[in-house]
Amino acid sequence: MSAEPGVNPADEMVVGRESAWHEGAAGAASPVKSLPLVSIPTSAAPSTGSGVPTKPSWLGMSAVEQERWVTEVAGQAKFRRKQIEKWIFQQRATSFNDMTDLPLAFRERLAAEFTIFTGQVVRHQVSKDGTEKLLIEFPPMGRHGAGRIECVLIREKQRRTICVSSQVGCGMGCVFCASGLDGVDRSLQVNEILEQMLRITGVLPVDERLSHIVMMGMGEPLANLPNVLPALEVASSDFGLGISPRRITISTVGLTKSIDRLLEVGKRYQLAISLHAPTNSLRNQIVPTNEKIGVEGIMEAAARFKRETGRRLTFEYVLLGGINDTLEAAEDLADLLAGQDALVNLIPYNPVAGLPYATPSNQAIARFRKVLEDRGVVVKCRQRKGDDIDAACGQLRRLVDKSSVGLADGN
Ligand code: SF4
Repeated sequence: MSAEPGVNPADEMVVGRESAWHEGAAGAASPVKSLPLVSIPTSAAPSTGSGVPTKPSWLGMSAVEQERWVTEVAGQAKFRRKQIEKWIFQQRATSFNDMTDLPLAFRERLAAEFTIFTGQVVRHQVSKDGTEKLLIEFPPMGRHGAGRIECVLIREKQRRTICVSSQVGCGMGCVFCASGLDGVDRSLQVNEILEQMLRITGVLPVDERLSHIVMMGMGEPLANLPNVLPALEVASSDFGLGISPRRITISTVGLTKSIDRLLEVGKRYQLAISLHAPTNSLRNQIVPTNEKIGVEGIMEAAARFKRETGRRLTFEYVLLGGINDTLEAAEDLADLLAGQDALVNLIPYNPVAGLPYATPSNQAIARFRKVLEDRGVVVKCRQRKGDDIDAACGQLRRLVDKSSVGLADGN
């Protein structure tokens, strides 16, 4: 399948940690929808009984490490590694035993020493609008217990977009966000990021493939670049999912050093900055990490990114009723973005139970938008997806954590 080339997926769809998932959710106090648990094929690693896999994931090794293992440990030809990649990324193999053009003994050796997936799908929800959400539990790691994260498939016309989580929880503490309520537990590993993409691919019919990736799920991707970048390298490579970097968007609250680090990698990913407020006094209230970064620092880093990449900047702005949806905030935002090639995604907030924030009125949204547009700022207001499946980031995890939901069949 194909999607429109050169279009930043963050431009037009509901994909944000602060958007689809917040907009679409019914709130943490809402009951888990009575959708059937859907099982999808998995090859979860054998467990010791405590949920700890006994084997490492093949996806956790770099291409060099894989090739070394294939040639030096298993004594096979180099091209066998490419065969394995093709099976996993193009033919959706979830088990080494599926790889029928590999010698049987080699398959058995692979299966004895590695697994492909280490997580288990705890819940699979399907929205009536086609949005699908997986809640995946990864096994304990070091001092960290099992960690649950969410990933989402968003269907929009020809696009098939995955929203990927980068951490278990989030340490940024945005005041309106369910993902950050309990802080960050740990960063996800390369294989755990790739597993989300492969499992969502497995949800698609065989004649469809993922077209876009947005790193806008749970966690701050720029706080986990050592794992996010290698995973995106595989996702954007011909031997992986083959998704063009211009169809991959990384979202951040504005970690300036990491924005600069993004410029050092060869690939030009799209950048979306979750701004949410135009001034430090307002942003400090909404995004606590702003006290260390500052709006000015973010805008300078964004300008450097724009200068180096030529990519249009996207700013995410969650509208919180009565807080950052005022005329004054709109004028300040227009001032901040004056003369910039920037897009503002306005995201009306949907309440999260237990948090004291409200959806702005339609009049307030329209008024805010008009001020920006009258000042020449390009604005989009996101449509909502997955309303019926607790799609707001972090909310399904919290809901399921509070309930006694068993694992889906097949896991
Ligand atoms: S940065 Fe973290 S806390 Fe802030 S909205 Fe995103 S996931 Fe939530």
